[in-house]
Amino acid sequence: MTILPVIPISPDQPDSAVQADSVQFGGVKPRRRPSMPPRHLADLDLAARKTAVTGLGEPAFRAKQLSTHYFGRLVRDAASMTDLPSAVRDKLTTELLPTLLTPIREQACDDGATRKTLWRLHDGALVESVLMGYPDRVTACVSSQAGCGMACPFCATGQQGLTRNLSVAEIVDQVVYLAGVAASGAVTGSPPRLSRVVFMGMGEPLANYPRVIEAVRRLTTPAPEGLGLSQRHITVSTVGLVPAMRRLIAEQLSVTLALSLHAPDDDLRDELVPVNQRWKVAEVLDAAFDYAAQTGRRVSIEYALIRDVNDQPWRADLLGRLLHGKLAHVNLIPLNPTPGSKWDASPKPVEREFVRRLRESGVSTTVRDTRGREIDGACGQLAAGELTQAGAGGVAADAEVAQ
Ligand code: SAH
Repeated sequence: MTILPVIPISPDQPDSAVQADSVQFGGVKPRRRPSMPPRHLADLDLAARKTAVTGLGEPAFRAKQLSTHYFGRLVRDAASMTDLPSAVRDKLTTELLPTLLTPIREQACDDGATRKTLWRLHDGALVESVLMGYPDRVTACVSSQAGCGMACPFCATGQQGLTRNLSVAEIVDQVVYLAGVAASGAVTGSPPRLSRVVFMGMGEPLANYPRVIEAVRRLTTPAPEGLGLSQRHITVSTVGLVPAMRRLIAEQLSVTLALSLHAPDDDLRDELVPVNQRWKVAEVLDAAFDYAAQTGRRVSIEYALIRDVNDQPWRADLLGRLLHGKLAHVNLIPLNPTPGSKWDASPKPVEREFVRRLRESGVSTTVRDTRGREIDGACGQLAAGELTQAGAGGVAADAEVAQ
C-alpha cells in the first residue's frame, strides 16, 4: 500500500476546510449538522447554467465556456481559464464551481492500478471513491450517499447508518475528479480516458433516486453539458428497492442494473439484506428481469459468498433454478470481512463448487476480482476505518439527526 500525496483538486483552493477546523477547535472536529452543499454547475443542465450566469450579470455564452472547462477539459481552477477575463473567471468559479469535495487521503495499491480517495464534504461528512485501472478501461466506483440506511450486517457502510444523500454535483464531481486523475496518466498500464462508472461505493443509489438519475444524465450527456460517457458503461447497484427499480424501468435508460441478492431464499435474505423484509426475493427478481427485458441488458446478480452462511450447494442450485433462462449474470464476490465481523469468505473449493453448480444450471457466472482490499477499497469497506478513528464526520452527524 502507498499513501499518496493528495492531488489538490484545484490549485487555488487549498484544503482550507480541514485546516480551519483544527486551528479553530484545537484539533477537535466540530459536530456539524448534515446539510446539502452550495449550488454547483454540475447540479444544473445547460439551460439552467445559462440562467444562472445571466443572473450573475454575464452573457449566457459564458455558461458554455465554463462547462467546457469543467466537463470537456476537466479543469476547475480559475487560473487555467484563460479565455475568460480574470474578474469574470473568479466570479464564475466562486459562484458555480464551489469546492464540494476536499480530498483528505489518497491511497494506492495493486501497483498503482487501484486508487482510493477519501473526501470530506462541506459539512464534514466523509465519503470515498475508488479508481480502478485495467488494460482496456478505467472505472470509477462512486458513492451516492454519506453512510447508508440499508443496514446490511456484512457491509461496513451499512453499520454506519445514513448521514445524508449526496447532491447531484457531489456525485458527478467524484467522477470528474477521477477522470482528471486518469487523464494525468496516473493509472499506469491503463488508457487515460475514464470510461466506466459503478454506483458501488457508499450508499444505496436508489434511495437517493432523483439525484442519482440526474447524475447519470449529467455523466452521459455529451460535453460541454455533461461528461459524455456511454449509458451502457454505467452500473447502478441496488439492494432491491422495488418501486424505485420500477421507476428506473420507466426512465428508459440503458444503464446496467446490478441487484445485490446475496441469498436465493427469503429466510436468509431477510437477515443479510434487511430490506427483503419489505420486498421479497421473487418480487425483487421480477423487477430485475423486467428491467433486463426492457433494456435488453443482462442484470448482474451480486452475491457475496459468506462461509457457511449462503455458500451451500443447495443454495447454488436454488439460485440456478431462479435464474435459469433469464437475462442475468451472477457476479460472486468473496466476502471482504468487516472488522469484528463474525463472518468470513467462503473457502476456495466451496466457491468453485458454487460456480460449477450455477454454470451447470446454464447461468453465466464470474467471481469478482478483489481490487483494493489492501486499502479497504473493496466492497463495503469504504470510509469505515476513517469514521472509527475520527469518531466524527458522518457518525457524529448521524447521531445528531437521530436525537
Ligand atoms: N447499496 C448498493 C451499492 C453499494 S455496495 C447495493 O447494495 O447494491 C456494492 C456491493 O458490495 C453490493 O453488492 C454489496 O452488497 C457488496 N458488499 C458490501 N459489503 C461487502 C463485503 N463486506 N464483502 C463483499 N461485498 C460487499
